[in-house]
Amino acid sequence: MSELHIVKYPDPVLRKKAAPVERVTPELQEFMRRMADLMYASSGVGLAAPQVGVSLRIIVVDADDRLQMLVNPRIIERDGSQTGVEGCLSLPDLHGDVTCAERVVVNALDSRGKKVTLRGEGLWARAMQHEIDHLDGTLFIDHVIPDSLFWVVREPGEDGGVSERPTSLEDALRQFERQAALLKA
Ligand SMILES: [Zn+2]
Repeated sequence: MSELHIVKYPDPVLRKKAAPVERVTPELQEFMRRMADLMYASSGVGLAAPQVGVSLRIIVVDADDRLQMLVNPRIIERDGSQTGVEGCLSLPDLHGDVTCAERVVVNALDSRGKKVTLRGEGLWARAMQHEIDHLDGTLFIDHVIPDSLFWVVREPGEDGGVSERPTSLEDALRQFERQAALLKA
């Protein structure tokens, strides 16, 4: 398997509905471990297989110091509501407020192919909703409160800080499309 890398918006794989996994094989387990390595290397709290260009229903999440590698995950219960800042490794440096459920219950297969039911709240529940959305081609920009969008801008130099620059969704998406076109050229 070649090295995994993160696919960025507007790659069409991010908008596809991912296919269910039929069997958890050793190759698939190896793939999930590599997804987890890439998530940690990218300082993310979650990663979905379409984000590495693989249109399968697989996610890895570590939002509370325990790693979960899940196959065919499904949200079976949602409860309450929370609003907080989200970002996405496929839309680097763009952030905005998203309202989602405070608590969720998730059914899935674990990395050994065993059925599991997981429940959690707060950041964990937010990460689960964000990653499972990816499997249906849904991105956080589809749920974001439009006026809350901003770029994180890193100041140049060694001890340069970070600042926030507000943006509209339209401008942000145009910027990603321009970057993709430049990379292709
Ligand atoms: Zn994401």
